[in-house]
Amino acid sequence: MRSTDLFIIGAGPIGISCAIEAKHKGLDYILVDKGCLVNSLYNYPLGMQFFSSSDRLELDQIPFCSIESKPKRNEALEYYRRVVESRGITPQLFEKVVHLEKQEDNFIIQTTKESYKAKNVVIATGFFDIPNLMNVPGEELNKVTHYFKEAHLYSNQKVAVVGASNSAIDAALACYRKGAEVTLIIRGPEVGPRVKYWVRPDILNRIEEGSIKAYYNAEVSEITPDQISFLENGSPKTIENDFVIAMTGYLPDFEFLKMAQINLEGSNLKPSYDPSTMETNIPGLFLAGVICGGMETHKWFIENSRDHAQKIVSRILS
Ligand SMILES: Cc1cc2nc3c(=O)[nH]c(=O)nc-3n(C[C@H](O)[C@H](O)[C@H](O)COP(=O)(O)OP(=O)(O)OC[C@H]3O[C@@H](n4cnc5c(N)ncnc54)[C@H](O)[C@@H]3O)c2cc1C
Repeated sequence: MRSTDLFIIGAGPIGISCAIEAKHKGLDYILVDKGCLVNSLYNYPLGMQFFSSSDRLELDQIPFCSIESKPKRNEALEYYRRVVESRGITPQLFEKVVHLEKQEDNFIIQTTKESYKAKNVVIATGFFDIPNLMNVPGEELNKVTHYFKEAHLYSNQKVAVVGASNSAIDAALACYRKGAEVTLIIRGPEVGPRVKYWVRPDILNRIEEGSIKAYYNAEVSEITPDQISFLENGSPKTIENDFVIAMTGYLPDFEFLKMAQINLEGSNLKPSYDPSTMETNIPGLFLAGVICGGMETHKWFIENSRDHAQKIVSRILS
């Protein structure tokens, strides 16, 4: 069984920053990911533009040069790939961690490929793998997706986009511009307040001019092969529909955190950790990145979790 000082679960931007910091400080590390490098970013919509400027997505002072001040998904994929290459980081990809437990002073980690022993473990598994389901009849139909990729598929189709956040609004505008008949189904009274400031006027004008139909205070109740039904201010409505893009958010893998014996606090299931060291209630087990927010997935992002790596490694070395 291979052993290491620091086992890092998740090769997203923050897991990568943990490996870089470990290497800088002479700690032996193993970095694994169940998918490709920065797998979550790889699964973002093809044309997605980050709301952060590229300098705020940088790791280890490696400049992130992008065409526009806010980079696109494909630029970020290439940036993080080059960061890994230039720092000589060796991620083990397509290897999923399925179990971990502490035995005396070490952790035993089981992946889909082998077992490991580690003095310390970082969970940097993000929140993009588990969609926040609407739990309505028909959500399992093929016409329903929680992951928007690109708009061409929806051209000349009747598309319902569920949600009010950046992902929903980006998808709605992209589909509208590919000739889809777009209907927005929004649970609250308005388009989300955190929608990117340069996108907001666009969507509000499209709704006002009637190019995109929007229903507010509306909740999906049922999806069938040719229709979608929802309650608008409590009264039932049904419209013709070909596709449903449900941008209803994502959730961390809480079952994984429970399996690791991490305490989850309050209604937001916030994992328990010390913000000065990122150490959880299990000594030697750390959290890094957006997983730290529990249900509040909007709280942490790359910009504000890049220092987690330094906190973790200095705690280990203290
Ligand atoms: C549409 C969208 C736009 C965003 N825009 C911005 C932005 O502009 N600026 C910003 O700062 N942030 C933004 N964010 C937030 C932020 O980019 C991400 O959440 C970011 O990916 C967080 O990095 P991370 O390393 O914490 O998690 P992730 O990038 O999600 O990485 C987690 C990794 O863990 C792996 N993993 C999960 N479970 C296991 C397991 N059991 N075994 C092995 N590997 C596992 C996953 O495959 C994944 O690669 C955006 C998020 C979304 C969804």
